[in-house]
Amino acid sequence: MIGPPGCGKGTQSVRIAGHYGIEHVSSGDLLRRHVAERTTIGRTVEQCMQRGDLVPDHIVMDILRKPVEAASRRGGYVLDGFPRTVAQAEAAYRVAEPLGAAVRIALYLKAGRAELIRRLLARGAQTGRTDDTEQVISHRLDVFDEAAGPLLAYYTHRETLITIDGDQPVSHVTEAAIRRLDQARQQLGMPDISLAGTGGTQRTHQATISATTPARAAYAALSTRRHTDPGRH
Ligand code: AMP
Repeated sequence: MIGPPGCGKGTQSVRIAGHYGIEHVSSGDLLRRHVAERTTIGRTVEQCMQRGDLVPDHIVMDILRKPVEAASRRGGYVLDGFPRTVAQAEAAYRVAEPLGAAVRIALYLKAGRAELIRRLLARGAQTGRTDDTEQVISHRLDVFDEAAGPLLAYYTHRETLITIDGDQPVSHVTEAAIRRLDQARQQLGMPDISLAGTGGTQRTHQATISATTPARAAYAALSTRRHTDPGRH
């Protein structure tokens, strides 16, 4: 899952992973956990994250390796926030391909800068996330813009790239993403593991009765919430 800060990557990754009953792995969440737990890695990356700069590739590769391998063994994953650069995409490919864990589909969640800033400032006020301040937001968006062109070109040529308009309400984005993912999965000859029904209610029911993984349980919870709070980000 590729997209600028504030595009809804985290929210959508959880929903999509839940829909397919696969794992959600977020590089940002893993890094924030290291910072919160004051591990050696956490202390190394803290300032870099606070400035809104990218953490060195070898550290990101290091923290992702085990969770991605494990998720791959359990049936697949949505990787949220990685890769951020072509160098990371290439490094990941080299490591993952022999393990059968390589990225098959890249999903780009596109959103306008003004909307991204509005969302991130709102999130910062709500959660106190230290990189959701005006100056750091602006820098993070610039960092994304700089790497995005080559990264999207890489996936256009190498894998299947799906672009979704992230400015829509949350549930519309999820539905559009799942529709396009199902099409791409079919084209790639991937097995049909989708829980998809034709409507939200059916999907909610199916996700609830088959909530056998944390991601499915999370999706079931989100799906239920979606009916009462459709515009939530
Ligand atoms: P995110 O939660 O995806 O917005 O990421 C928050 C911060 O974590 C970023 O601003 C970076 O400092 C760091 N980060 C997350 N993922 C990566 C990555 N793939 N490569 C380098 N830095 C990352």
